[in-house]
Amino acid sequence: MKRYIIGIDLGGTNIKSAVYSAAFEALVERNDPTEAAAGPIFVLDKIKRIVVDMLAELNAAQEEVKCMGMGIPGLLNPAEGLSYFSPNFPEWENIHIVQEMQKVFSFPVFIDNDVRTNLYGEWRFGAGAGVKNLMLLTLGTGLGSGIVMNGAVLYGETASAGEIGHMNMYREGRPCRCGSSGCLGRYVSAVGMVRTFTERLAEGRSSMVQERIDGKIENLTAQMISDAYDAGDGLAIEVMHETGQLLGFGLATAINLFNPGLVVIGGGMSAAGERLLASAREIVTKRSLRVSSQACTIVTAQLGGNAGRVGAAFYGSGRLSGEISV
Ligand SMILES: [Zn+2]
Repeated sequence: MKRYIIGIDLGGTNIKSAVYSAAFEALVERNDPTEAAAGPIFVLDKIKRIVVDMLAELNAAQEEVKCMGMGIPGLLNPAEGLSYFSPNFPEWENIHIVQEMQKVFSFPVFIDNDVRTNLYGEWRFGAGAGVKNLMLLTLGTGLGSGIVMNGAVLYGETASAGEIGHMNMYREGRPCRCGSSGCLGRYVSAVGMVRTFTERLAEGRSSMVQERIDGKIENLTAQMISDAYDAGDGLAIEVMHETGQLLGFGLATAINLFNPGLVVIGGGMSAAGERLLASAREIVTKRSLRVSSQACTIVTAQLGGNAGRVGAAFYGSGRLSGEISV
């Protein structure tokens, strides 16, 4: 009997893996360092070993596995199982992940973008459960997003729909890896907020974080800004407020376009919670269509680091049954 579903969330730092029952109860969970610098073949071999180990722990045969879903950062082709490019992974180019997995596993394997597997997780099992129209934004090192409309995840022509992080906020702003500049993600992300803060310090502003970073600006983190905010630091309050406002302007446009009932904010930086979201909500209320903003709630994610792997398992299962088409 096919009773197991495997979910893998490949991140730049950690590989989060689990084996689930058919009802998506976690039976085994593992977190392993990615060791991304060792290259794609090393990382994929590591994932294979993790899966073999997890199945051994359950005394399960490959024949008992229904399928495996994997969330992979970067641009990819989910229909072909091909990863074009992945940020933070050196030499990661045109990697046939599904083919590679199929060399050792007899069960079907499906890949999707990691933000979308997070979206599946929060939508089916977390903050978005039961909602028909929602958006997930992941605020981490960068800014990612995925969209559910009328009960289906949007993919688009090249499976790259929902890239709110590349919405232009300034005609000529900070350069972005996408080739454009002034993109929302270059400001509203951990890296973006740290950069804004750094620019203000360079302009001669002062903050209590200066003592904590020991004169080395590269030691500054988004968490330090959040801590300084709580301690009443003027510059931290200002930068957090501005970052939240800019998030609000981006969301106002996205809400006008997609009319979601719920916006879920996830990723490491969502820990800033109301420090960031209060300013975002204020702008959304003022600047998006009233009928749309009144129907939309903005909340933080519920599943934290688990959303990606359970979402990947759900996605794999949906691809297998045909309920999810890409
Ligand atoms: Zn961009």
